[in-house]
Amino acid sequence: MSRYSAWEILKNAVKGNRDWTPAWRRAEPKSAYDVIIIGGGGHGLSTAYYLAKVHGITNVAVVEKGYLGSGNVGRNTTIVRSNYRLTPNSRFYEKSMELWRELSHDLNYNVMFSPRGVLNLALTPGQMDTYAERGNQMRLMGVRSELLDRDQVARLNPGLDVSGSARFPIEGGLLQPDAGNARHDAVAWGYARAADQLGVDIIENCEVNGFLKEGGRITGVETTRGTIRAAKTGVAVAGNTGKVMKLAGIDNLPIESTVLQAFVSESIKPIIKNVVTFGAGHLYVSQSDKGGLVFGGNIDYYNSYAQRGNLPVWEEVISELLAMFPAFARVKLLRSWGGVMDMSMDGSPIITTGPIDGMYLNAGWCYGGFKATPASGWCFAHTIANDKASEYNETFTLERFKNGQSIDELGAGPTPWYH
Ligand SMILES: Cc1cc2nc3c(=O)[nH]c(=O)nc-3n(C[C@H](O)[C@H](O)[C@H](O)COP(=O)(O)OP(=O)(O)OC[C@H]3O[C@@H](n4cnc5c(N)ncnc54)[C@H](O)[C@@H]3O)c2cc1C
Repeated sequence: MSRYSAWEILKNAVKGNRDWTPAWRRAEPKSAYDVIIIGGGGHGLSTAYYLAKVHGITNVAVVEKGYLGSGNVGRNTTIVRSNYRLTPNSRFYEKSMELWRELSHDLNYNVMFSPRGVLNLALTPGQMDTYAERGNQMRLMGVRSELLDRDQVARLNPGLDVSGSARFPIEGGLLQPDAGNARHDAVAWGYARAADQLGVDIIENCEVNGFLKEGGRITGVETTRGTIRAAKTGVAVAGNTGKVMKLAGIDNLPIESTVLQAFVSESIKPIIKNVVTFGAGHLYVSQSDKGGLVFGGNIDYYNSYAQRGNLPVWEEVISELLAMFPAFARVKLLRSWGGVMDMSMDGSPIITTGPIDGMYLNAGWCYGGFKATPASGWCFAHTIANDKASEYNETFTLERFKNGQSIDELGAGPTPWYH
């Protein structure tokens, strides 16, 4: 396998870029592994990487039903942030930020992490109060935050309509200056390549369609490419959690699957400096390095496993975008797509042992699972290796839903649609 370095780039440039080798092997499934991870999305791949790197467990297979990047890891709007209010979320997502900052060096792969700032717009005085509280909470947790007035917001993003006659006049905003974006598919490829180099088998086009059970314990999986046994099996299939867990006989998880859509425009000159979110509804927009406006909003409000959505959400999202940036009405929309989200009842994730012996579960990623990718893999690897949660995921259990200890960031109650 090629190692990437300035010397390799120079050598390949003069040789017409013909000598690059594949970034990871096309591994054939072996009959048994120490650990199988189901799902070759960001979370599955990062788990395999940290199992090998941090815990020295290299006899690991990642089994993916499609190709790497075909799930949400390659479909998201790439926002990375840790602007949370509740301590468990704040600690977990700040751990993720710590890993993001070093990720390109760690993986020797440019994931294009760009801490350009995430700005949440406030459209009412009440919302300013809420943001002041959230900003203070962030600072108490050691996360930088800045409460901005309208003039400061206008100076940051000159395209915003900050006039008093705007459809939703802007009062100010809360900025997390250290948050931003990363290139989503580079994250999948970078983790895959680094895990492969440590000995992990990445097996694409291999769908899990059953579990092996002995004496109440999971001992491996049935797949479209044969039976694979393992001492430990981790499930990290995001929007397909309900379907896959049903194969193991678990049909009552506190998760619903829904579609989330995203949009990208034609490329235009740099106009938005930060990631900007709309306070009177749900919309987030940033500009990619190629110049496209990348944006999204609410989920489509029905349960589905389809990777495509419907027109009412287009209308809602685009009208919110134009309320903030009226000039974007002249920009052409290039593409839209959808991904299947695993929305938990309190909007927070699940990274735990069980719910059956020999099995480990990573799920409940809602809108924010991309930014969680490094910490999720780090915590899931810790949990699998030690049969015990780390300090960062000890509250992300399934039991919390039984015990009434939900981690409900928005205070929206047990309704996945509102998180
Ligand atoms: C449109 C959109 C925008 C988003 N924007 C953001 C954002 O800006 N910031 C953010 O933090 N988060 C965002 N998210 C959420 C984030 O992308 C997801 O929460 C996260 O990617 C989920 O984890 P993953 O990468 O492991 O999922 P996935 O990439 O979906 O990985 C799961 C994998 O499991 C595989 N699989 C499923 N069933 C089986 C089976 N039976 N056998 C084998 N393999 C199987 C799937 O094929 C898939 O590749 C967004 C999501 C969407 C859809």
